[in-house]
Amino acid sequence: MSGAPRFIFDLDFAQIAEWVASIGEPSFRAAQIWQGLYKHFYRAPEDFSTLPRPLRLRLAEEFRFSRLAPSKTLESTDGETLKTLFALEPPNSIEAVLMRYRERRTICISSQAGCAMGCVFCATGQMGFRRNLTSGEIVEQVIYYARMLASSSEKLSNIVIMGMGEPLHNYEATMSAIDRLNDPQSLNFGARRFTISTVGLVPQIRRFTSEKRQVNLAVSLHSVDDDQRSALLPINRKYPLEALRSACVDYVEATHRRITFEWALIDGVNDSPFHAKKLAWFLEPFLKEHAALCHVNVIPLNPTQKYAGKASSRQKAYQFKAALEEQRVPCTVRVRRGIDIQAGCGQLATG
Ligand code: SAH
Ligand code: SF4
Repeated sequence: MSGAPRFIFDLDFAQIAEWVASIGEPSFRAAQIWQGLYKHFYRAPEDFSTLPRPLRLRLAEEFRFSRLAPSKTLESTDGETLKTLFALEPPNSIEAVLMRYRERRTICISSQAGCAMGCVFCATGQMGFRRNLTSGEIVEQVIYYARMLASSSEKLSNIVIMGMGEPLHNYEATMSAIDRLNDPQSLNFGARRFTISTVGLVPQIRRFTSEKRQVNLAVSLHSVDDDQRSALLPINRKYPLEALRSACVDYVEATHRRITFEWALIDGVNDSPFHAKKLAWFLEPFLKEHAALCHVNVIPLNPTQKYAGKASSRQKAYQFKAALEEQRVPCTVRVRRGIDIQAGCGQLATG
């Protein structure tokens, strides 16, 4: 084979098997390569000790084993949040975050370098769109942390695709990364332990629904007033609230799975008990007789450079939650974490 080396994490098992066959190696070599990558987290061809040397050399010739170079790591003062800056091919880079909370090890990974959606309070939106990540670049973020955790006998518990970028704007790569990690022969990471967060791309939510995936869905709502939501999240002009709600209702009806709605609380903007009441009315179709097929995650706004809005006080946040719960809407107020290292929601950005 000729041409530039391919990135090994961009390939699924069938493609690895095809390559193995193409060079005349027995088919069980594909499983050995796959396990080396996804079970042992080998970094380089020479680590594959079960493979004969010529095959290791061939792997080295034809594939790249890493495209993410961790270039900076920041640890928050709470000692529980770790942010990593990964250099991609110049000039791009991305960030990802590991959060340790009790027994849980959650990583928040990126799907794009930058973001095209331009939400005004989001640092990623403020930097603009650079490029989509490949499926392998999404996968490698996970492998990086899985390897790190394995070295201290810890295990990954959840993966949220809520870092830089809009995952449904990079649909194919995001889903194929999930499929690859989900595979029992690889990380065997259950679909239900993934969460995808979207700004509300309606056609992609509909596609996601039709694929009946078990992955959790979160939708960034922040406002139930079209004018206000369009001012905060410009994509709302294209997919206004009614279209978004209808796609979400259809998702819930088709899958019987609940949706998490994200709500960044901005002081004096969307944080009054009246706003909570309007949100509860908006969510009415999700409140079934026996269960609420929605959950609201309230996150006091994290500061970013180019947005002047401030976070609501904790007291306001709890009043908002109480007003929602009065209307039977379940709600959690998220603890802000990693703010000192700009690792909070909406704070990820690179130069
Ligand atoms: N693009 C996806 C996922 C990445 S953003 C999305 O928008 O859903 C992850 C979450 O952080 C979203 O809910 C987003 O609305 C929220 N967010 C963005 N900027 C924020 C900020 N400054 N403070 C708190 N949350 C923010
Ligand atoms: Fe993109 Fe999400 Fe940030 Fe909006 S909030 S700019 S969709 S990353």
